Amino acid sequence: METLINLLWIETIKWNTITITAIWIVIFLRLIIIIRTARDISARTENHFFQIISILLVTIIPFPIWLLIYIAIRPIWTIIRTNWDLNINASWILENSIIQNNARCQKCWTLNPKEYKNCIKCGEKIKTNCKECNSEYPKDYFYCPFCGAPNIER
Ligand SMILES: [Zn+2]
Ligand SMILES: [Zn+2]
Repeated sequence: METLINLLWIETIKWNTITITAIWIVIFLRLIIIIRTARDISARTENHFFQIISILLVTIIPFPIWLLIYIAIRPIWTIIRTNWDLNINASWILENSIIQNNARCQKCWTLNPKEYKNCIKCGEKIKTNCKECNSEYPKDYFYCPFCGAPNIER
């Protein structure tokens, strides 16, 4: 009788150990997911409210559901990617405005305001007259901006 009780006792301890280990593994995995989500969401938004909601979501809601909700609500691009897109756009606008507001000297490649008649660096004439409509425009243009005739001097 005493042996049986002893055996049962050992069995109970064994099962308790397995259960406790399993619980620890589950807690550990959940922690990794929470840390991973925290890093992911802070790379995607600077909105603290949104960051906290996302972390709470993966902490409280059971597995497949939080993943689906998180993927649905998180911003598609990271902040770095978004800033990169904005920078590309800004440099494109800047480049366009430089092209539109300046004329490049064909001799020394200096950029001059497009109203100037001669290069500020070498004195070269930077305007030409259209062969079709006789309008004056910068020499580095491929086409006359007034009538569209090609610039034969280029
Ligand atoms: Zn020049
Ligand atoms: Zn013209």
